[in-house]
Amino acid sequence: MKPVQIKIVGKEKLFIKWDDRNESEITLDKLRRFCPCATCLAEREKQSKSYIQILSMNQVKILNISQVGNYAIGISWKDGHNTGIYEFTFLKKLAGLTGEAFSADS
Ligand SMILES: [Zn+2]
Repeated sequence: MKPVQIKIVGKEKLFIKWDDRNESEITLDKLRRFCPCATCLAEREKQSKSYIQILSMNQVKILNISQVGNYAIGISWKDGHNTGIYEFTFLKKLAGLTGEAFSADS
């Protein structure tokens, strides 16, 4: 499974069309909140459940999206953070996630 089209909609959502014709939408806020890079993972692990992550405007704006191999995309955020590699399977999982019922276990 892989995307056939990825675009940013209305500056706040990532739209993905998959090769199985499904479509996903993920808010940029959610994408950034679950940034899968090692730094952010470690940061989230340190926080308690009641911790509220406050994101600045530049942290939820995408500067650039690049393809990584044939399994992932890399996202450069406006605040300069660009180490998150979002695997397609992860994106699909993230798109199906509602609320906080999510643990980054992959
Ligand atoms: Zn990160």
